[in-house]
Amino acid sequence: MTKVLSVASECVPLVKTGGLADVVGALPLALAPLGVEMKVLLPGYPAVTKAVKGKKLADLGSGQRLLAAEYAGLSLYILDAPKLFDRAGSIYLGPDGHDWPDNLERFAALSQAAVAIAAGKDKGWVPDVVHCHDWQAGLVPYYLKKAGSPAKTVMTVHNIAFQGIAPYDKLGALGLDAADFTADGLEYFGNVSTLKAGLVYSDKISTVSPTYALELMTPEFGMGMDGLLRHRRDDLIGILNGVDTEVWSPATDEHIKPYTTPAGKRANKAALRKLFKLKKADGPLCVVVSRLTEQKGLDLLLEALPALTSRGGQLVVLGSGDPALEHAFLKASGDPNVAVRIGYDEPLSHRIIAGGDAILVPSRFEPCGLTQLYGLAYGTLPVVALTGGLADTVIDANPAGLAKPAATGLVFHPVSAEALANTLTRLCDLYADAKLWTKLQRNAMSHSVDWTRSAERYAALYGDLTV
Ligand code: ADP
Repeated sequence: MTKVLSVASECVPLVKTGGLADVVGALPLALAPLGVEMKVLLPGYPAVTKAVKGKKLADLGSGQRLLAAEYAGLSLYILDAPKLFDRAGSIYLGPDGHDWPDNLERFAALSQAAVAIAAGKDKGWVPDVVHCHDWQAGLVPYYLKKAGSPAKTVMTVHNIAFQGIAPYDKLGALGLDAADFTADGLEYFGNVSTLKAGLVYSDKISTVSPTYALELMTPEFGMGMDGLLRHRRDDLIGILNGVDTEVWSPATDEHIKPYTTPAGKRANKAALRKLFKLKKADGPLCVVVSRLTEQKGLDLLLEALPALTSRGGQLVVLGSGDPALEHAFLKASGDPNVAVRIGYDEPLSHRIIAGGDAILVPSRFEPCGLTQLYGLAYGTLPVVALTGGLADTVIDANPAGLAKPAATGLVFHPVSAEALANTLTRLCDLYADAKLWTKLQRNAMSHSVDWTRSAERYAALYGDLTV
């Protein structure tokens, strides 16, 4: 059994703001049959300490305790540190909508707790590998190296846009050595970056799709880390995220009218139209479930929308985020063929994805993306930008793709309103051919989106580190 400690700031089913939480929660279960015992270290946010009764393993000083617990099939370690984590509201943002001012210290403490576990605080369970997720766990490889720990480390980049930046004068508070504040160490354009620390000091680096791994080595996508990643290219691997098929399977989904064939979508589509008071229409019912941010390219959708609605297409959007985008979508919902729900609502997201004909993901960059995978499983054809994990998971319905028969959706490039508008037109043309559309749906639904293959790749990666 290889023992792996996964260190993360979110984990389903306890606390989630994005796809990271899905990955962290799904991996231990997917890895168990492959001889990997994975435990997850999480901060003791109220959502965690309320749901889980932990057993105390150790006092870590400064009012911090390490707890152990079992929950929903997961083995958890919890850093119980009320001063850092017992706060109402968002796990990352204060009531003013800005990052908590001590975010770097909060997650440095989490990273130190990982070092304590690696040093044997839980007698009998010492990890062979510590798997660090995003900037919140970026200091773990550094701390472990400094402590002379034999544990190997994997640093996973879920989104390089989040880098854990702190000014130089936080060096001491974060337990970092000034001698390591160099261009090939902790320094990132005059500041400290905990993500960069992870990329420099880890044994292996992974990211969540093969295409994003390649993109990260380019100036366009690397956000200042591309040179470092090119330097470490031999240690960098892209492994696609899978989907938790216990939660996302049209045959067993408790939030919808379950189905196993494209025809079964009809009742869900009718229910969705009813819910959002949309009239019957001739064109495809398109859906979006997303954070509303610049990354997701949904401003382009607002521009391209007439290409859909002029052809009898409709749009349902569920999302929240940037107030300007929320406002713009609400304004667009003045059109009777556009319905918008601002908020975060998981049951509704299932009903929307089951009821839609197509799911739109026009992201400017997308490390992996999950909603296009849900779309495949549910026969809700993904319309995606040619980037990152979107490019790796959707096969375009061009003549070659249709001939194979491999096509599972529509892929567009460049990421512009014009290209998206052209693709929405193409979507309407395909939708008008009912036989072809059903064939595409069948292709999509037979595409495997579960964790099996990717879990094998992670197991192999840990295996390489522990031979
Ligand atoms: P990211 O992590 O960049 O937000 P992903 O596609 O990897 O993007 O993961 C987003 C996850 O969050 C998906 O599981 C998606 O269904 C969910 N999600 C996003 N917005 C909402 C929302 N408004 N309501 C419910 N679920 C949402």
